[in-house]
Amino acid sequence: MKTEIVTIGNELLIGKTQDTNARFIAKELTAIGLQVARITTISDSPHEIIEFLKSASTVPKIIVMTGGLGPTSDDITKHTLTDFFEDELILNSEVLVHIEEMFAYRYNSPINQGNRDQALLPSRATIFKNRYGTASGMWFENDKVVCISLPGVPHEMRYLLTNSIIPAIQNKFTLPYNHIRTIHTAGLGESNIATRLSAWENRLPDHVQLAYLPDLGKVKIRISATHSQPQKAIESVETAIEELLPLISDIYYGQNDVGLVQNVANLLSKSSKTISCAESYTGGALSKTFTSIPGSSKYFIGSIVSYAKKIKENLLEVSQSHIEEYGVVNEEVARQMVVGALKQFKTDLAVATTGNAGPTRGDNNVEVGTVFIAIGCQQKIDVHQFKMNGPRQQVIQRSINKIFELLYHKIVDTKTY
Ligand code: AMP
Ligand code: MG
Repeated sequence: MKTEIVTIGNELLIGKTQDTNARFIAKELTAIGLQVARITTISDSPHEIIEFLKSASTVPKIIVMTGGLGPTSDDITKHTLTDFFEDELILNSEVLVHIEEMFAYRYNSPINQGNRDQALLPSRATIFKNRYGTASGMWFENDKVVCISLPGVPHEMRYLLTNSIIPAIQNKFTLPYNHIRTIHTAGLGESNIATRLSAWENRLPDHVQLAYLPDLGKVKIRISATHSQPQKAIESVETAIEELLPLISDIYYGQNDVGLVQNVANLLSKSSKTISCAESYTGGALSKTFTSIPGSSKYFIGSIVSYAKKIKENLLEVSQSHIEEYGVVNEEVARQMVVGALKQFKTDLAVATTGNAGPTRGDNNVEVGTVFIAIGCQQKIDVHQFKMNGPRQQVIQRSINKIFELLYHKIVDTKTY
């Protein structure tokens, strides 16, 4: 079934609010077998919304909208849709009671006129009460389209979509089954992967879709199949993955919810080994990546954010004379930072970062993007030099992705720690 998503709101068009609703809706609708053909953002303007609906309603489809359902005069979606579907607003007493109860409970006050008007709803539309707010969800229908209007407030929209709208869509339409799997890779660029996989890709059946999703040194390969028979969709994707995995064994780091970071976290957790960090240009971002994984206290011990020379010298015992002679962005400093972290934290493994994330060459006069990453244990320390592309945040994030890639190999391949 052809599907469109429309987000309404001036705040989205002036760059004030990021459109997170469209992303959530697209994911949920795709998961139930709908094909989202277009996402459109429209201002709070009746004219623009009507123009859109006129052109979109020429073929049968489902349209899911958010925004413009608040109690103030700039919220015009409900009136506009009621006009377009040639309906009229009538008082919905059940919704009015709900709004009154919400006000009494939340604000301990009677409702104002704006909120009372939110109980005026189109007479022929199906109304979905909003447990978390005063704007109801509405399901309009004519002989061509189903148009669903939801509030813009993200958690209200999510609640209504998941609990009311998705079941209602599944009830009305017989949808094909959509099976999606994600394969996580790192260390090889998207175009190189595509070249390597071209013969495999050419053999994929027509109903199997493939997407490469690059992200700062990592690439997700998403394989999906839509079929009226769930078993057919599952089989096609699983067969494609069986044939794919041997082709990417050197760059493969996990599937679905277990990506590179979670995979390393699982390995560390299982190994009963501990890890610490000594971070310079990554400024704590590496430690944050570790600690954002639930259960990381089992293996992640701590970090020294040794941004200043003094901290490198005093807390990590990096040689002062070496720094004086060669600066802080070099292989030896990275190595000594690992030695310092292993000593201070008494962990099995330590990771150190020193580099220039930009935007200028800085005190050390080192080319922007030059970084040294050291990973080591008592027996062995490896230092890797890279030239990371992009602005400062990208240099940092690319480095973190690279560190997890290196850690994976340190744990899986060498087992020396
Ligand atoms: P509205 O239903 O248009 O009154 O929207 C209420 C609030 O929800 C807005 O002020 C935004 O903060 C938020 N919002 C609206 N649309 C979106 C969207 N597409 N993505 C994320 N937040 C949104
Ligand atoms: Mg709005």
